[in-house]
Amino acid sequence: MREALERTDPEIAHLITAEERRQADKIRLIPSENYVSRAVREATGTVLTNKYSEGYPGKRYYEGQQFIDPIESLAVERARALFSVDHANVQPYSGSPANLAVYLAFCKPGDTILGMALPAGGHLTHGWSVSITGKFFKSVAYGVRKETGRVDLDEVRSLALEHRPKLLWCGGTAIPRTIDFAAFASIAREVGAVLVADIAHIAGLVAGGAHPSPAEHADVISTTTHKTLRGPRGGMLMCRAAHAPAIDKAVFPGLQGGPHNHTTAAIAVALREAGSDGFKAYAHQIVKNARALAEGLVARGYDLVSGGTDNHLLLVDLTRQNIPGKRAAKALDRAGLVLNYNTVPFDPRKPFDPSGVRLGTPAVTSRGMKESEMRHIARWLDEGIRAGASDDEGALVRIAGEVRELTRGFPAPGLEHLAG
Ligand SMILES: *Cc1c(COP(=O)(O)O)cnc(C)c1O
Repeated sequence: MREALERTDPEIAHLITAEERRQADKIRLIPSENYVSRAVREATGTVLTNKYSEGYPGKRYYEGQQFIDPIESLAVERARALFSVDHANVQPYSGSPANLAVYLAFCKPGDTILGMALPAGGHLTHGWSVSITGKFFKSVAYGVRKETGRVDLDEVRSLALEHRPKLLWCGGTAIPRTIDFAAFASIAREVGAVLVADIAHIAGLVAGGAHPSPAEHADVISTTTHKTLRGPRGGMLMCRAAHAPAIDKAVFPGLQGGPHNHTTAAIAVALREAGSDGFKAYAHQIVKNARALAEGLVARGYDLVSGGTDNHLLLVDLTRQNIPGKRAAKALDRAGLVLNYNTVPFDPRKPFDPSGVRLGTPAVTSRGMKESEMRHIARWLDEGIRAGASDDEGALVRIAGEVRELTRGFPAPGLEHLAG
C-alpha cells in the first residue's frame, strides 16, 4: 500500500499503520475529530504539495498556476454556495490562524474584543489569556448561566455595552446547544462590533441543515474544515462582500505565505461531498445520535452540562460519579472509547485535571452507527467510568473486546480494508 514510504522510512510507516488500526478498532468520540473520505485523503496526498502559489487566483506572485487557480476557485465557489456567503477565503492553514487573520483584519493591538471564556466552552483564540489573542488585545470574556449551562445573552449584552469591543465572537469548543446568531448580531449592531461566528465545530451541521446558519447574521464566519465538515485539516473564512478585501489581505500577505494547495484541493472535494443529500442525512444523524447518547447517559445518572444536547456534542460533569475527568478519560481509552477530559462551567478543579469529559458523535456517525449503537456506547461509557473509578482493569479489557466486535461491523471511511 505504501511501498515507497515503507522502504524509505519503515519507522514512520509502521507508526502510521498502527494509527490506522487504532482508528479502525476504537470508538472515537472526540467531538472535533472525524474520518475523511478516501477521495479527500487522495487529494491531500498529491503533487499539489509541490507548488508555491502566494496570492489569489489570477493574482499570483509565481508562474505555473494553470491548474492551481481553478482548484482554488472551485473550493471558493463551493464554499460560497454551500454556506450562502458572498466571499470565502480557503487559504488559512487551520482554525487558529483563520481566527488570527480576523484580528488582523479588524483590530489594532490593544483593542478590546469580547469572546466566550475558555472554561465556559470558548476557544483559546477568542481572547483567552495564554493565547496571543489574549496577550495582544484587551479581551473581555462572557460565560454561561450557572443554572442552565447556556450562554448568558444578558451578560453578553451588558459586557458589550460596557466595553464596546471591536470584535464579538460567538461559537466555541464545548457548547452542547444551538448558538443564537440573531441575538449575537443584534448585540453586535447595538455596540458597533464586528460579529464573528466561529463554527469550527458545527460547520458540517450548518452545511447539512442540522444547525441554523450564521450567514445572514455574522459579518465574518470562521471555521475549520476537518471537524463535522469532514474535510482535511484546514481553515476557511467567509464574509460579506464589504469585508472581503480586509479578510483576504489579512490572510495573505498579513499572516501567511503560500497556501497549502493539496489541502485546498481536498477542501474542494469535502465541500462537494458536503453538498450532497447523503451529507444532509449524515448531519441530521449526528444530532440524533448525540441525543440518543445523551438519553442513555442521563438514564444512568450522569449530569450533562445544560441537561442535554442540540448538536453533536455532550459535556459530562462527573462530580456525582466521584471520578475526575482525566482518570475517566484514560480508563475509557483503555476500554476502546476515546474522548477527552474537559473543564465544565464553574469547575472547582484545575484545567489539567478537571471534573468532566467531552464527547460527540461526528466520527461514529461517519461509520454508519445509529441510535441503537449509541445505546451500547452509553452502557460501555458507564461501565468504563465505573471500572475506572474502582480500578477494575479486567472490566476495561472486556469492554475493549466488545467495542472491537462492534467496530468490525462499521468500517471507518477510508479504512474499509481493516474491517471484518
Ligand atoms: C478547533 C477550533 C479552532 C481551532 O482550530 P485548529 O485547527 O485546531 O487551529 C478554533 N475555534 C474553534 C471554536 C474550534 O473548535
